[in-house]
Amino acid sequence: MSALLSVEGLTKHFPVTRGVVFQSKVGMVRAVDGISFDVAPGETLALVGESGCGKSTTGRMILRLLEASAGTIRFEGKDVRALPRGALRDLRRDMQIIFQDPYASLNPRLTVGQALAEPLRLHKLASGEKLRLRIDELLTEVGLSAWHTLRYPHEFSGGQRQRIGIARALASEPKLIVCDEPVSALDVSIQAQVINLLQDLKRRRSLSYIFIAHDLAVVRHIADRVAVMYLGKIVELAPKRRLFALPRHPYTQALLSAVPVPDPTARRARIRLAGDVPSPLNPPSGCRFHTRCIHARDLCKVEEPPLRVIGDEGAQVACHFAEQIVPPDLVPENEPPYAARLAALRKHVAA
Ligand code: SF4
Repeated sequence: MSALLSVEGLTKHFPVTRGVVFQSKVGMVRAVDGISFDVAPGETLALVGESGCGKSTTGRMILRLLEASAGTIRFEGKDVRALPRGALRDLRRDMQIIFQDPYASLNPRLTVGQALAEPLRLHKLASGEKLRLRIDELLTEVGLSAWHTLRYPHEFSGGQRQRIGIARALASEPKLIVCDEPVSALDVSIQAQVINLLQDLKRRRSLSYIFIAHDLAVVRHIADRVAVMYLGKIVELAPKRRLFALPRHPYTQALLSAVPVPDPTARRARIRLAGDVPSPLNPPSGCRFHTRCIHARDLCKVEEPPLRVIGDEGAQVACHFAEQIVPPDLVPENEPPYAARLAALRKHVAA
């Protein structure tokens, strides 16, 4: 199936300047450094990683809320970066965003009805009585009621405000939605409701999502494929089941080993990463993860590992020694057929 969105070599470097008047450039923050991925129609691709890894910057560049420094973004074959400013309105009809903080993303001076009317008017999708009916439909679709139309954002709870943010994103009938940490500011019980709502909407409207998150339990629930980012690079990109059962990059293994298991009798090996994430102003040479990787060797310090296909499921890993590193016991995720493959890998590496 051809990709709905295709990103190649996407890069964002922020200049660091010194001085108030002359603003001389003293360095570059390499927030995102040449990442590539596709999103298929109807697919949810999750971008995960620690704070500052570049996942939110990536989402904003795709929508051109931030201009990329280099790389290409193609949406339905159109070169998004080459579109003139005037053509961005049409692009924003097809690509929308849901923000982490729904309160900050809603205008406090507009009622919910006025906030939802804006995109409908802007894209000439409804007017007059049809506009009112469309707003009622949108509110019902996200689990709110028509009588909420006259209320202001401060009159709603956090979960309800996020539902309004979702309704606003849906108003222009997009094909792709960038969900930027949409549930991380919500209580756990409300998180589940919003995730279920997003999944229902995806099924009903054949939506594609780029789901940005740091909570792997949430990602496990919603994603089809997962891209793990570290210091502005994708280090592993794989189908969800494969990634959770048989992670091949040491960083992914460490992240997954920290996810709590809902079984008090289950034992799992915990990998503790030493030190902090290095500064993106001066990332380590070679493999960016080598300063914290327990498997690092001399080659890792000098040569950057490319993201390469490993195995038969199209999974990609950026590690020189991925074939020789045995994933830890990630009980209970090592389900068949991955349990058998893990055993075979152990045997192969031990031989
Ligand atoms: Fe670790 Fe080396 Fe692989 Fe990087 S390339 S993840 S440092 S083993």
